[in-house]
Amino acid sequence: MDAFISKKRRRISDVSSPSARTGQQHDHEETTEMKLALLASLHPDITQDTLLEALLSEDGQVDKASDSLADRATSLGPPKRAKTVGHQSTLGNLIRAAGGELLSSRPLTKKGKTLFLYSPKDIETHTPCSIIHNFLPTHEANALLEELLHESKTFEKETFQLFDRTVESPHTMSFYVDSFKEVEEQKTTYVYNGSQIKDIRQTPSKMLSASAKVRQAVNLEIQRRIAQFYPDGKKLRYQDPKEWKPNTAFVNCYDGPKESVGYHSDQLTYLGPRAVIGSLSLGVAREFRVRKIVPRDVNDESEDAGAADSQGQISIHLPHNSLLVMHAEMQETWKHSIAPTTAIDPHPIAGNKRINVTYRYYKPNFHPKFTPKCHCKIPTVLRCVQKKSENLGRYMWMCHASYTPGQKGCTFFKWAEFDDDGEPPWKDIVEQSTGVSKWHV
Ligand SMILES: [Zn+2]
Repeated sequence: MDAFISKKRRRISDVSSPSARTGQQHDHEETTEMKLALLASLHPDITQDTLLEALLSEDGQVDKASDSLADRATSLGPPKRAKTVGHQSTLGNLIRAAGGELLSSRPLTKKGKTLFLYSPKDIETHTPCSIIHNFLPTHEANALLEELLHESKTFEKETFQLFDRTVESPHTMSFYVDSFKEVEEQKTTYVYNGSQIKDIRQTPSKMLSASAKVRQAVNLEIQRRIAQFYPDGKKLRYQDPKEWKPNTAFVNCYDGPKESVGYHSDQLTYLGPRAVIGSLSLGVAREFRVRKIVPRDVNDESEDAGAADSQGQISIHLPHNSLLVMHAEMQETWKHSIAPTTAIDPHPIAGNKRINVTYRYYKPNFHPKFTPKCHCKIPTVLRCVQKKSENLGRYMWMCHASYTPGQKGCTFFKWAEFDDDGEPPWKDIVEQSTGVSKWHV
């Protein structure tokens, strides 16, 4: 029970840990895992899939689950020997042990619960992500980590305006493009939260080499996802059927257990609808949490604080040198976060730091010289309707100037239209002005 005890000691102090920027995070990771460990200690001869089933059917109440297990034990034959609860494979093993049917036939997450997933199979089955462990050869991963640790010394916190307050992101970051020409272009034309970002860097050599490998792996993962998970083995509507070609990356640094990012979806403005993102983790392992967005009523103006609480959430373990692919269904219908914690295992090279490279494909058709501008004469932001209405899932172009400190913003709004491959109506104009062959795969 050593794993259980050390886990318990860690988690209890988590309760007082501060919330991230959106105030939407709560620490309740002790629930599922600890309750299972507790049940296992009370019923050492009952298999873990049975323990989990009992816990789920009693809505997470350990005492009731324990009673029902005691009843069952007296009515069943000789008990099977239970496996011990592992530190980092608990629920992954449980789900496999349950044969998939148990969990897929009912909602996977429950109110107030965090479900921990570790194995690639569980992650791709229950979330819109897939993961490749030990992605780069060890020496390459370590060299890339060294390169980015050096870069991260001069990373800064992102500041933005939220209503009438200026807020800082609870971690540091920088933005990278692959050539000097693109650095200059980014500085003058691309707009984030209504203003240009100043710290734009050219992708350093090891990060660029990794990009080629990420590109190859992500394209294979996209094809596998389509074949194995999407209806009729067909790509999603608005998903780009062409090759995914990473050309930019946000690099995040989480220095110590308290650095985090609150629940959010990534902006689609320059990626287009149904975007895919390749996220390479280096250094300290952290928890990546995801939850499905439950559409709320249009008149419900309350912030969706507590949404993770009411639906439960899934935690994906991201160790050093793992590549997580956020697939095409992720940004529109799920939110993700990096939870603050109290305990991390220091990494031999990175110490307390986690470095995260998020490779993205900025598409030529979504260049800000083509996308709609608002009344402030600023290129607009692309959003997806996530509230419950007849417009749920539609895309829109909106002013985002108000997210920049000191700017007011306007009321600009326009529905965004795309063809089935996610191309905007100005696609043909772009192709004429740039030459089709240049963008052809
Ligand atoms: Zn505006």
